[in-house]
Amino acid sequence: MKFASMPGTGCHYMQFCEKCGALMVPTVGEGGKKVLMCRSCGHTMAVKGELKVSQNVTRTPRDKIVVVEDESVPMPKTAAVCPSCGNTEAYYWTVQTRRGDEGATEFYRCTKCKQTWRYYGGR
Ligand SMILES: [Zn+2]
Ligand SMILES: [Zn+2]
Repeated sequence: MKFASMPGTGCHYMQFCEKCGALMVPTVGEGGKKVLMCRSCGHTMAVKGELKVSQNVTRTPRDKIVVVEDESVPMPKTAAVCPSCGNTEAYYWTVQTRRGDEGATEFYRCTKCKQTWRYYGGR
């Protein structure tokens, strides 16, 4: 059984980027057309058939840091001292920079005050 596309349900339409294989998300492209955009490399594809696009989808500038606000995704916690309140526990995640020599940038978010900061490798 394949989960990549489920005709008939109408609400779960999943498409993977033909360039990098990442999951593509529906968004509104040039001229208000519905397109699928790769969150990883920014590649876009035209949408075939009907696809529901939520009104709140906005285009993300590719060089901006995307802060994950989706609270439904559990983030791992680690021991880190918050620069804002001194709390010693923070959520963390990593973002791979496009320049390979820099490695991944680690982000932390305080579990208490939600302060977010980043840490550049070098452990
Ligand atoms: Zn891609
Ligand atoms: Zn804090």
